[in-house]
Amino acid sequence: MLPAGPVGGLPGDWQAWLGQVLSERAEASLLRRCRTMDSAQGARVQVEGRWLLNFCSNDYLGLAAEPTLREALIAGVRESGVGAGAAGLVCGHHREHEALAEELADWLGVESVLLFGNGYLANVGILQGLASAGDAVFQDRLNHASLLDGGLASGARHQRYAHGDAADLARRLAAGEARRNLVISDGVFSMDGDIAPLPALLTVTQPQQALLMLDEAHAFGVIGEQGRGTVSHFGLAADAVPLRMGTLGKAFGVYGAFAAGPRVLIDALQQLARTAIYTTALPPALAAATRAALVRVREDDWRRQRLQVLIARLRAGLLSQGWDLMDSSTPIQPIRVGSAERALALSAALAERGFWVGAIRPPTVPAGSARLRLTLTAAHDEAMVDDLLAVLAELAPAFVNTAEEESA
Ligand SMILES: *Cc1c(COP(=O)(O)O)cnc(C)c1O
Repeated sequence: MLPAGPVGGLPGDWQAWLGQVLSERAEASLLRRCRTMDSAQGARVQVEGRWLLNFCSNDYLGLAAEPTLREALIAGVRESGVGAGAAGLVCGHHREHEALAEELADWLGVESVLLFGNGYLANVGILQGLASAGDAVFQDRLNHASLLDGGLASGARHQRYAHGDAADLARRLAAGEARRNLVISDGVFSMDGDIAPLPALLTVTQPQQALLMLDEAHAFGVIGEQGRGTVSHFGLAADAVPLRMGTLGKAFGVYGAFAAGPRVLIDALQQLARTAIYTTALPPALAAATRAALVRVREDDWRRQRLQVLIARLRAGLLSQGWDLMDSSTPIQPIRVGSAERALALSAALAERGFWVGAIRPPTVPAGSARLRLTLTAAHDEAMVDDLLAVLAELAPAFVNTAEEESA
């Protein structure tokens, strides 16, 4: 007979280690926990029984619960069922997927688009597919975790250049001797909200024959003409950046992701990106809902205009209260508070007063730069921003002044 095992059959060593992971994180104010929502995503959400004003989603255009998307999803389910049933290359590729890929390519002015299950999978698959031993990958220090994971897993030489620093990138590229160079930057940085210095990056990558990839997770839908992202924001031609990745889970309000670029590159990714090959295709009805989202993304300039109005109003209010803002013109407006404990305390004080704002702590951001990551969406109105500002004004004496004492 087997000896009586510890909890749930875990070997003792494992149980001790897992318990230690949890207790260490809890002591350092770094434990992460999901809150459970009862309502749909939106400006007001019900969370564990309470209605809160929501300033932490990435649903920038307010599309996650938009009526035309709901109807498109329901119609899609009636038409094509629920699950795709197989990977795209086996028998899961539906005409809704094909139509979505074509419409995304048309929107961005590129030759071709490949769909992925989500942005994390897209980034890992793109990096593992395009780079391997003998190549070099250069990434902005603040790029998203999925890009860093993909770069490390690719087997290529992997380097991180100083944030937004094209000169540092140039030095590193010039010193390298790799077979091929891949340079990757977030278009809009997810935890800081600033926009990558794309023209400067291009003056470095083009003469060096380095392939530039932009992760447009927080840019598509939000900046540029018709929401076409960072390339359009800088007034550049559609083919200025050969490879762009976008998620469908943020401004699009749905789920999934894609890579966009010239046909030869996308065709090769279909052969090389293991995270697109060995995985079930997105439900075709989600592709149908995403096609409806793309119509809103292209046509609803009012959503982007409203965001700009709200961003200006929020920043002006926060600056007048003395908060430590970051250099962001996007819906991501972090307030830096320093330690993880302080970020948690501010987030908790806001929650008590009816506002949901996430505390972003290390390792997501560097130690000592924990922050409240405020995000705006087109579902907010000016009165909601004013309500948030009124509560932050009340909290500012406790949080703004102590920040100065700490740094003094
Ligand atoms: C959210 C995010 C991703 C991942 O996209 P998902 O579709 O949520 O998996 C990738 N890159 C960046 C910069 C992101 O913010």
